[in-house]
Amino acid sequence: MDSDYDVLVVGARVAGASLALLLGEKGHRVLLVDRDTFPSDTLSTHFVIASGMMALKRLGVLDDLHAAGFRRVTRSRTWIEDCLFEGPAGPAGATMLAPRRDALDSILIRHARERGGVEFHEQTIVEGLIEQDGRVVGATLRTRDGERREVHARVVVGADGKYSKVAEWVKAERYDTTPALRPAYYGYYHGLTPLPETALEIFFCDDRIGFVFPMRPDEDCLALELQPEEYEAFRANPRELFEERFRALPGMAARMRDVTLENGKLFGTRGIENYLRRPFGPGWALAGDAAYLKDPSNGSGIGDAVSQAFPLADALDATLRGADWETTMSAYQHTRDAAVTPMYHWTIAATQRHDAAPEAITWLRAALVTPHVARRMIYWLADAMPDGLPPDVQQRVKATGPYFGVHASSAIAVAQPARDPDARS
Ligand SMILES: Cc1cc2nc3c(=O)[nH]c(=O)nc-3n(C[C@H](O)[C@H](O)[C@H](O)COP(=O)(O)OP(=O)(O)OC[C@H]3O[C@@H](n4cnc5c(N)ncnc54)[C@H](O)[C@@H]3O)c2cc1C
Repeated sequence: MDSDYDVLVVGARVAGASLALLLGEKGHRVLLVDRDTFPSDTLSTHFVIASGMMALKRLGVLDDLHAAGFRRVTRSRTWIEDCLFEGPAGPAGATMLAPRRDALDSILIRHARERGGVEFHEQTIVEGLIEQDGRVVGATLRTRDGERREVHARVVVGADGKYSKVAEWVKAERYDTTPALRPAYYGYYHGLTPLPETALEIFFCDDRIGFVFPMRPDEDCLALELQPEEYEAFRANPRELFEERFRALPGMAARMRDVTLENGKLFGTRGIENYLRRPFGPGWALAGDAAYLKDPSNGSGIGDAVSQAFPLADALDATLRGADWETTMSAYQHTRDAAVTPMYHWTIAATQRHDAAPEAITWLRAALVTPHVARRMIYWLADAMPDGLPPDVQQRVKATGPYFGVHASSAIAVAQPARDPDARS
């Protein structure tokens, strides 16, 4: 059967628009559709981790994000109860961003259309798939005028998010599953006193995780991950409980004195499931959350969706040029699983972790009260990296090391010249 397109991509946000752009640039005829109108927000906060920043840069959209006015985040602050740890957000000159999704997703769509020659239709719902001889060959769409239209494509990609209909229709197998772990609430605040240097802030306090994501000037996204037993109370009275808990975090009562909540509205979810899905089958593939979903506490969903678009586009490009579908896509799945599984397990473990016992924090305070002890403690920690820490933490540190130009075997050598001479005695 003749196909109208090489690829139909269902869902036009970070996963779908990135993939469409890359496939369009490779010369394929791509139709990108989404039931939403753009620009628009979606249920998500906004932190883009280092690998995501690198992927956005590779996609060529970073300049447009900076032009949209998002602050360059240069520091990363972590509060453990009332103890503060802070460092750079990346190697010298590197910055992170917390772009609003209405801007990020629309910029990606614009690049897909302008650079990739992608045909894009918003307010267009995919209502079902067309199959022939056991293979997906297209989809039925309902356009914004309410018209039903059949579209044939050599491949249909479900980039349709965590409630993916495409995945449901093709019965894509889920594996390595863990149920939802933590409810989350967030909102956009104006009037928050900014820090002297723009920082991502994370608070591990009272068994909740608080986040401040600095967006544009005078625009911050505040988010809280809760414990499941708190959800019903929050649902009944979200704003009061959210703000009360947030003001209780270190330094936040003063900084929130004059804040206003945008549209008086908070957004919440009971929790996000965790699983990988088989990302392909005859004539179909999955991208982004549809293929790989996890708790957002680690802030890697956007970065993963954009980063994974590159190997998926390469695999699809190869099949569209004649490579064997099953062999190529199996290899893609194998590589994807090897790439994402360590971080996936780490995210689940980190989300499940409860706060340390109060005595442990008291010892931490006792150490930090004396700057020379704090210094020794940090040098000791630097020495313990990368081999003396618990295996899951080691894995994470080793994965991030190269970003800072340090490799596992050289970490100790780098740490030593800066050591306190007393520490060697
Ligand atoms: C509370 C919360 C906070 C988060 N915070 C962060 C964070 O700080 N940092 C981070 O990196 N990640 C975060 N994430 C995760 C991140 O939002 C997702 O990983 C990311 O949005 C996945 O992108 P996607 O393109 O795969 O799917 P989505 O962004 O969900 O987009 C899917 C699109 O598909 C469209 N669609 C669905 N069905 C159809 C259909 N039948 N026809 C047509 N269109 C359809 C939808 O309209 C939608 O636009 C958070 C998630 C949640 C829930």
